[in-house]
Order: sequence, then C-alpha cells, then structure tokens
Amino acid sequence: MDVSRRDFLKMSGVTAGSLLLPTGTAAAATTANFPLHKRVGEAASLCPYCSVGCGVIVATDAQGHILNTEGDPDNIHNRGTLDPKPLAIPQLANDAKRLKTVLYRAPNSDKWEEKSWDWAVGEIAKRVKTTRDATFKEKEGDVTVNRTEAIAWLGGAANNNEDCYLATKFSRALGIAYLEHQARI
Ligand code: SF4
Repeated sequence: MDVSRRDFLKMSGVTAGSLLLPTGTAAAATTANFPLHKRVGEAASLCPYCSVGCGVIVATDAQGHILNTEGDPDNIHNRGTLDPKPLAIPQLANDAKRLKTVLYRAPNSDKWEEKSWDWAVGEIAKRVKTTRDATFKEKEGDVTVNRTEAIAWLGGAANNNEDCYLATKFSRALGIAYLEHQARI
C-alpha cells in the first residue's frame, strides 16, 4: 500500500486521538468521581520585581497560602503575559523568615524591637518634619530655591504610575530635590 506523508500523519493523529480521548460516558464518570476538596481563591495582584507592574492572578488555598501565579489577561500592562520572575512569588510570600511586623533598632542599641505600623508612620513623619525644619533653604544667593537637600525619596519596584505621581507631588510640596525611582537605577 502506498502511504503518503500526509496520509501517515492523518492516520497517526486519529490513532493517537482515539487512545487519548475517553468516551462521553467515561469522561462524565471521571468528573463525578474526583470532586475538588481544596477551596482555591483567586485575587488580582501585581508582580513586585520591577516597575513595569505586571498584573498577576494569585491563587491561594483556604489558609491563604499561595498555590499558583499566572499573568492577568485583564491587566493593561502585560495582557496575560509574564516573565519567569513572578513564579517565585509563592516562595517569597510563604517564606517563614519573611518580616511581617516593623522592626526598629534604636541608635546605639544592639537589639531590634517590634513596633506597630502606626508608631513607624508617626516616627517617620516626626523625623521628616524635624529634618525639613532644620535644613529648609528659601534662597541660594539671589535665587529662590525653596528646598531641602537633607531628605531623599527613593521609589520601589511595585510603585505604579499613580503612586509615583502622588510621591512626586508630595516630595515637591516638601521641597525634596533628590527624588528617584527604581526604574531609573
Ligand atoms: S519583573 Fe517581569 S513580570 Fe514582573 S513586573 Fe517586571 S516585567 Fe513584569
């Protein structure tokens, strides 16, 4: 029998398909016999590794442990694509050594103390005000500058466009001249 390459591929495809596909009855029985026991929830989040801010769909179990991460097709930045880095999000989030509270080490102390976020934010605000009050310059020679050179703002990887806009407004309002962002480093 003469069998062309095209015929051979067709026949192989039919044979492989018939081996792999169960009948309708068998498929229905398989589904009925294996119900899902784990509750899995999904939430839209952001990849923390660079300032592109790709959307990630994070699947978690009932205890909040991350089981899977995939690109979010509804996110305008990546439209469902993702590079390999966010596959490490479960390791990052489930790592027992990950810090979950504020740790503070006072000047000259050799110990870290646990503090609340309210305390930390209040402390940062107090220090920004003290530093700005002590270093603010209205003029340099005859030129009006209205700035402090003693405070800098460094944005992080997960800041999105709107975060950066607000950070810029806030910093400029305080007279901060040294303003940078992870994307430019
Ligand atoms: S590290 Fe990759 S996936 Fe994450 S935000 Fe940047 S480009 Fe997107």
